[in-house]
Amino acid sequence: MSFRVYNTLTRRLEEFVPQQPGHARLYTCGPTVYNIAHIGNFRAYVFEDLLRRWLQFKGFRVTQVMNLTDVDDKTIRDSQAAGQPLTEFTAQFKHAFFDDIRALNIEPAEHYPAATDHIPEMIHLIQVLLDKGYAYQSDDGSIYFSIDKWPSYGKLAQLNREGMRPGARITADEYDKENVADFALWKAWDEQDGDVAWESPWGRGRPGWHIECSAMSMKYLGPSFDIHTGGVDNIFPHHEDEIAQSEAATGQPFATYWLHCAHLMVDGQKMSKSRGNFYTLRDVLAQGYTGREIRYELLATHYRAPLNFTFASLVAARTALRRIDEFTARLAELAQGAAAADLPGWADTAALHFEAAMDDDLNISAALAALFAAIREGNAAMDAKTLTPEGAAAVQDLFRRWDTALGVLQKPTQVIPDDVQALLDRRQVARAEKDWAQSDALRDEITARGWTVKDTPKGQTATKA
Ligand code: AMP
Ligand code: ZN
Repeated sequence: MSFRVYNTLTRRLEEFVPQQPGHARLYTCGPTVYNIAHIGNFRAYVFEDLLRRWLQFKGFRVTQVMNLTDVDDKTIRDSQAAGQPLTEFTAQFKHAFFDDIRALNIEPAEHYPAATDHIPEMIHLIQVLLDKGYAYQSDDGSIYFSIDKWPSYGKLAQLNREGMRPGARITADEYDKENVADFALWKAWDEQDGDVAWESPWGRGRPGWHIECSAMSMKYLGPSFDIHTGGVDNIFPHHEDEIAQSEAATGQPFATYWLHCAHLMVDGQKMSKSRGNFYTLRDVLAQGYTGREIRYELLATHYRAPLNFTFASLVAARTALRRIDEFTARLAELAQGAAAADLPGWADTAALHFEAAMDDDLNISAALAALFAAIREGNAAMDAKTLTPEGAAAVQDLFRRWDTALGVLQKPTQVIPDDVQALLDRRQVARAEKDWAQSDALRDEITARGWTVKDTPKGQTATKA
């Protein structure tokens, strides 16, 4: 069956058809590493993980790119407030991010490019836009994208072009629809930037936020790819600007499908750093909840519906997981390693319902309903002693298969000690930064502590030697 997704670009449900048969190419806007990500951010990353896993469930090979925004207005502002060099300041939050995605059982993306490693690619892209006449230099040396030159500007956010003010400029990375204007591709150095600057054909300066994602997605996925995602707050201006500058530069459609998740809310307001109404993953773990419970909570509401965060809902997540664990333990006891036979009829029905629900724009509520219906039927069959060990083994297989998509049904088993984990985290960052010497040195240290690290297409894995 085909997988349908809601495309923000067309405001319609559409069948997912990748540009390259069998290969889904996905760009997901990653964290701005100026602080520890809050669980609102993780709602977006868990949604993207579910999308990635579902594409794999459907048999697609997935290439996912998640960028790390390690230079922008916020990283510069806060590194200066902390009195730290930018790279040192952002490194700690990169480490924290990789710790947190692991705690939430988020599968690693294939690429985690950092913006500061791609300045030449950004400069090149800006030069193309200048050469083609879509960009211009202002008096202070900054380069702006001229929205007046790009008639389809506003197509993603569905902006009314009447209200646009040709020639007006906005320097900030983030702004609202009332301030639609020519946006900065390259920001000439000013005092507020301190020592953060790169040489460019237009003098010293630094990139704007939006150009980072265009340059990095093109480098790893090509000028045109399948799916671009983020939270709804990314639609404008970030994704609108990405589309304009990318399509103006390449003359090709940038991404076919645009998927956006609704916000994680607190008391009716978006959870955000600036409002101060946020919890980090660490805050919630410190309250005694597990990464698995938090993942379940973030996963269990459809990605396009706002989700109100409460501790009561985490308790409900715990109860749901307990029910799942009791059922899978009971199945294991009955199956005792028996070879799987055909699925019982009720499990077959649940399998069909689950897949149809997920194919319908990741309708997780209906998918979980199918899963709990299977638990109900399965428990009743075990009470009535009508489920055979071979039938139980088949249901175990079904749950394992479902879990490749959900990543929440199995209890985590292997516990990696903190010191080894810290080394693994540093190695992941070293690899993302292509620092192979450092990566090898860290591997030796990990081996010395009795663990074997392997690099797989899905990232590094560690097992006790
Ligand atoms: P940022 O680090 O602010 O660039 O955000 C990283 C990602 O988290 C983006 O995809 C945002 O859209 C998303 N995001 C930020 N706040 C929330 C929230 N409260 N709920 C869901 N997603 C969010
Ligand atoms: Zn982005």
